[in-house]
Amino acid sequence: MIKNTLRSSRFVVLLLVLGASLSSCSTPDTAPPNILLIFTDDHASAAISAYGSTFNNTPNIDRLAAEGMLFETALVTNSICAPSRATVLTGKYSHLNGQMVNGPAFDGSQQTFPKLLQAAGYTTAMIGKWHLRSAPTGFDHYQVLVGQGPYYNPPIRTPTDTTIIEGYTTDILTDLALNWLEDGRPKDKPFLLMYQHKAPHRNWQPGPDHIDDFMDQEFEMPATFYDDHSGHSSAPAQSVMRIDQHLNANDLKITPPRNLTDEQLARWNESYDPRNEAVRASGLHGAELDQWKFNRYMRDYLRAVQSVDDNIGRVLDYLDETGLADNTVVIYASDQGWYLGEHGWYDKRWMYEPSLKTPFIVRWPGQTEAGVRNSDLVSNVDFAPTFLDIAGADIPADMQGKSLVSILKEGSDPDFRDAFYYQYYEYPASHCVRRHYGVRTDRYKLIYFYGIDEWEMYDLQEDPDEVSSIYGMEEHAVLEASLKVRLDQLREEYEVPEDTRPIPDGVCGSDVTGWMGYDAD
Ligand code: CA
Repeated sequence: MIKNTLRSSRFVVLLLVLGASLSSCSTPDTAPPNILLIFTDDHASAAISAYGSTFNNTPNIDRLAAEGMLFETALVTNSICAPSRATVLTGKYSHLNGQMVNGPAFDGSQQTFPKLLQAAGYTTAMIGKWHLRSAPTGFDHYQVLVGQGPYYNPPIRTPTDTTIIEGYTTDILTDLALNWLEDGRPKDKPFLLMYQHKAPHRNWQPGPDHIDDFMDQEFEMPATFYDDHSGHSSAPAQSVMRIDQHLNANDLKITPPRNLTDEQLARWNESYDPRNEAVRASGLHGAELDQWKFNRYMRDYLRAVQSVDDNIGRVLDYLDETGLADNTVVIYASDQGWYLGEHGWYDKRWMYEPSLKTPFIVRWPGQTEAGVRNSDLVSNVDFAPTFLDIAGADIPADMQGKSLVSILKEGSDPDFRDAFYYQYYEYPASHCVRRHYGVRTDRYKLIYFYGIDEWEMYDLQEDPDEVSSIYGMEEHAVLEASLKVRLDQLREEYEVPEDTRPIPDGVCGSDVTGWMGYDAD
């Protein structure tokens, strides 16, 4: 009954809107579109069926792809959480926005696209994972997780207080987003909503709706799971992020989450404890234990993804039911890619494909053709200028990314970008991934690990898994030289300074104590 009343009142509103637009039909409808950025944390393209996942189905993300444009080569400037967020906000590389690594607070006094959209007449909201330490700026409304935020019962920070909300975080953030869309925003302005999930970030805790998913599924390890890194520089072998060696007791759910209610804990134990006991008793070793860890990891990761997909479905349904869908650009992206066992790894950081690429899908009704797949070299540094362009606002000259609007309207632009620059700075730190920078073209990749003065080079067409560097080989000398020239040009164009921060010796990797006892992140 209430629903019917709501629907009929919406119908009246629809008629009024229709009448208004008919009465002014001599001028085209130029209302700036709403912008909804659905942003997740650490979502591998390989765990999205629209990207060809062999593991899971994501019908709601797939729906966006079917109705919009899917980018197959969306690259991040610096593959880690806070730096990616800063790049999205500013349209600049890390060395200019100041967020080179996780940890330090983001300088919120600088120019960001939400501030510029505000100035252009938008109402702006940030709901979910912020992860930049400083208070969000440029938003008329925010409700954010504190730091990484837990999967259950998250404290939610607003400008005035921090309150714990009981439940599963992915569901709660969606409730908050829908509440704001329905009751929290001024209806006479276009909106920007940044709706940002914690999931599927480590340590991959499933929600009550999906806690038993994939229970009997055995996951096939990637071909490179046992990569011994003999085809790489010395950097990968120094890192600490192998599924078979470095997952800890929390990751593998040997121990339950610490902050569950009694009811949540009962549900959790129902699903996990008997299996833990079985494993402890069975004494798995070698490849059997590796497969068990991989299954455990994949199940939990994918369960977290399934809740994200469900909740995206709730939001898309809401947009349809309210008529907002017609004039709302919906974007799906993660802050970077992620490893699902490639090279033996979990986590991100590297310039290799699984973490360099992020899923990126845009649905722009009336502008972007449905079901198009694009392979231009686009990036998260392009998000800010794109959103400003969509809104009809000016793009500041100091933004380093470029608007994707012409690609969105025309399907592709082969001349959009011939080479992409990447740099990762966070060493020493978790996972011990050496600092590096490099260039990627449509076919080739050159990486320089500058702390150890070692190079790698790949032909992505011949070696898509990047297992055998061709750097230093006589037959590729011309290619190598040309990539080095392009790399230097990009560093000059983007005004990248030398990274002169000292690199202490002997501080990385020594704290790993094994999968039953290690408790980090
Ligand atoms: Ca992340």
